[in-house]
Amino acid sequence: MTKIYRITRAFRGKMPSSTYIERELGMPGIKCEGLAGCCGATWSDAVARIATEPPPGTCNAYEFGACVPAEVFLKQAEKTRRALNLPRDYELRPGLNLGRLHIKCSSMKTLAMEWPALFGFIVREDLLDAIRRHGLSGFEESEVIVKRAANMLLKPIPKFTEILVTGKGGWAVTDPPLIIKPACPVCGWVEMEETAYSTLSLDESQWDGSDIFRFNHPFDGYIFVTQRWMDAIPESKFDGFRYETTDEMLLARSKV
Ligand SMILES: [Zn+2]
Repeated sequence: MTKIYRITRAFRGKMPSSTYIERELGMPGIKCEGLAGCCGATWSDAVARIATEPPPGTCNAYEFGACVPAEVFLKQAEKTRRALNLPRDYELRPGLNLGRLHIKCSSMKTLAMEWPALFGFIVREDLLDAIRRHGLSGFEESEVIVKRAANMLLKPIPKFTEILVTGKGGWAVTDPPLIIKPACPVCGWVEMEETAYSTLSLDESQWDGSDIFRFNHPFDGYIFVTQRWMDAIPESKFDGFRYETTDEMLLARSKV
């Protein structure tokens, strides 16, 4: 069985993160009501990004978590599909981010991995080199636009690359097993029981073999890596992250 770990942010007593989001373009969240078939859920996903930069004026900047009525959302989705030349049936999830990540950097000293957004992380060149050198899979690289904070105007700024996690683990195998209900035809929301799971593991027949990946709902907000990734990118060599076993992750989740 392939052993997996969650990767998450950590400062380990060092300096805090020094980058933060400067602007976000993308899909708003949705309040799914007002149309036939609406499920009534209000949600925003915010764990994914399409790296294609939308033409100016075709997409809006939304506050994190801002939710609009279903009708407004569907109009925006149509506009975005056209702007990005996406197929008509392409599912644009509420909260999806678009274009390259724009961040501000407030310090010359940065962590090797920083997490300016909830949905993922960016890496400094030394860490990117290590990831490439070990041939790790399951992501796309997207250039990050770094702006200087006022205190950095005359200083060189670090180069960061966003790691967009594209690897797929399918549905997680849990105890008790997941009960998957059909998705809402309007917004794609999948209702899940709020269950305390005692185990979580990978079903290799659903996994695409990536070293870094996400599971489907309800674990899509977590990023997982394989033992191969963990051995190649040790916590002791880089900073800004830590690994957690699935048991540790489930225990923390049950306390929320
Ligand atoms: Zn819905």
